Amino acid sequence: MMPLDPFANDPNDPASFIEDDEQPVPLSPQERAEVTQDLDYVRDCMRRLRPRGILGIYFQCEDCEELHFYDWEIMEQNMLASLRGELPPVHEPSADPNVDAYVPWEYAMGYLDGLDAR
Ligand SMILES: [Zn+2]
Repeated sequence: MMPLDPFANDPNDPASFIEDDEQPVPLSPQERAEVTQDLDYVRDCMRRLRPRGILGIYFQCEDCEELHFYDWEIMEQNMLASLRGELPPVHEPSADPNVDAYVPWEYAMGYLDGLDAR
């Protein structure tokens, strides 16, 4: 005798969510405002931090627990895609990034603040 499927006839069956995975989620007005704000920051970073040798940000990925490095251009493209309601284009991480040229997002924001304070 087969064990009963614990999710039989359950509309909250976790498997029913999986096929929606590739659909872009439309931004709420608040998310749209946040992405627009971040896009401004990224363009500020391109203009003011890149000449100082900072090429982008890094963060620790929650999925693979490795550091991921993103150039400002890739951040900008991802944000523009979000605003258009598209999935961000997938970019392979650089094989051998110059890790000294990337900083955490918070650090970049603090750096911009510091430049404004002068
Ligand atoms: Zn990852």
